[in-house]
Amino acid sequence: MVEVGCGDVKQKPPKDRKFGKGVVKCRRCGTTVGVIRKYKLYICRRCANEILPSLGFKVYE
Ligand SMILES: [Zn+2]
Repeated sequence: MVEVGCGDVKQKPPKDRKFGKGVVKCRRCGTTVGVIRKYKLYICRRCANEILPSLGFKVYE
């Protein structure tokens, strides 16, 4: 799974060219709160705590 790199929006439509809260949604539950873009996960902390351990990550949040 390869997404565009940081700051590279060439594959994004113009309407997505905004920054800040509300842009990134959790791809698991759809929330925009607490979404982790780190590691290009795009999942919220809540989902992360459920998913990441199974992926080998350790989350202490
Ligand atoms: Zn979620």
